[in-house]
Amino acid sequence: MKTIYQPPFQEWEQLIKRPTIKTESLNESISMILNQVKLRGDEAIRSFTSLFDEVQLTDLQVNQEELKASSKLVSQEIKQAIEVAASNIKKFHQSQVHTEEVIETTDGVNCWRKSVGIERVGLYIPGGTAPLFSTLLMLAIPAQIAGCKQIVLCTPCNKQGKVNEVVLYAAQYLGIDTIFKIGGAQAIAAMAYGTESVPQVYKIFGPGNQYVTKAKELVQTQGVAIDMPAGPSEVLIIADEQSDAEFIAADLLSQAEHGIDSQVVFVTTSTKKIEEVNEAINKQLEELPRKELAKQTLNNSLMVEFATLKECIAFSNAYAPEHLILNIDHAEQYVDLVVNAGSVFLGAYSCESAGDYASGTNHTLPTNGYAKNYSGVSVDSFVKKITFQQLTKQGLQNIGKAIEVMAEAEQLIAHKNAVSIRLKKLSNE
Ligand code: NAD
Repeated sequence: MKTIYQPPFQEWEQLIKRPTIKTESLNESISMILNQVKLRGDEAIRSFTSLFDEVQLTDLQVNQEELKASSKLVSQEIKQAIEVAASNIKKFHQSQVHTEEVIETTDGVNCWRKSVGIERVGLYIPGGTAPLFSTLLMLAIPAQIAGCKQIVLCTPCNKQGKVNEVVLYAAQYLGIDTIFKIGGAQAIAAMAYGTESVPQVYKIFGPGNQYVTKAKELVQTQGVAIDMPAGPSEVLIIADEQSDAEFIAADLLSQAEHGIDSQVVFVTTSTKKIEEVNEAINKQLEELPRKELAKQTLNNSLMVEFATLKECIAFSNAYAPEHLILNIDHAEQYVDLVVNAGSVFLGAYSCESAGDYASGTNHTLPTNGYAKNYSGVSVDSFVKKITFQQLTKQGLQNIGKAIEVMAEAEQLIAHKNAVSIRLKKLSNE
């Protein structure tokens, strides 16, 4: 990892840039995929799946037999783990549901807001380098709590045309059966436009690699809502002299193994800790099955030293990490200084993996600096909030004059008339 000591503020802008592939060529290639799927539907999906995933698909949808068979292929241990995680995710997300009060803003004028689940949602479950069945729990559980009526799921299949059995088991466990063996930008296009096989949805959720993220960004400009730009994963860890270097190395590697476009950042007040963490990384890396991926990520990654913890946190706020770990004593005392982060892990024992899988918080989070202006997925992401109002005769009399004056000042006389006509009738009663 590249190490930088006490960088002046002017250098931060360069340091917080994420590794990316050339945007122009990505824009072009992904637009082409989207257009082809829009024009040629299933046929285009089959040809891109053949090109990128190296499999010739006949049926794009997972059939009921494949879905049922998954239960036999998954160990009891994994089933129990899914149950623990699902229960915590349900508890945490259920707590986000609130019924709002009816507010009487003026005598006789009642206003309120109701959350209504988005009717059709599409969930993208990454599966290129690792089958992220945990993402399925993170997206489907809040969608179900929100009351979404139709949930469509897309995930890449392997070269034999099979979707990972644990992804299928998790879907079945949650009662989801509309599953397509499609990955990448072609999956996003299918859900955005609809094809002969894939239903069109109103909002698309889920993380993915740069192709998936770019496709989501482009369909968003065409009227399909998306959760957020959730691209290649990242973690920023802040630690001091007291922190355990092995814990830090393990947490950095847990993100580095995601994919070559991920980034990990270690920020500390201790030069000694930089040496210890490097040593621990080299030791732990050798044991990892995905060490080649992790090594490439580490080449894109940073270690930064600052004089104080306050500077470390200021740098983190400028970077706006998807995950922030404060592996420092009394981490809770620093919470108010954190203004930009997707999800924050406090203290030595709050490892990011806890939030990735089973603590209950959502792991679909904004990356690439978007934590400055986006939140992670929650039940709110799956609902629209519809406002209602009901005015009594008295209510309209109370605010009618204000409406008439404002409408006239804006020269919208039909608006004014809608009130005047009623007030006139009331004055004759
Ligand atoms: P993926 O499912 O996102 O992408 C795989 C698909 O990419 C394939 O199905 C293929 O069709 C397509 N593809 C491959 N090469 C292509 C090319 N040259 N051109 C066009 N399309 C191509 O799976 P992945 O690749 O394993 O990536 C998962 C990503 O999700 C990682 O980057 C990981 O960091 C990220 N992630 C992010 C979050 C978050 O909350 N931000 C959470 C989990 C995972």
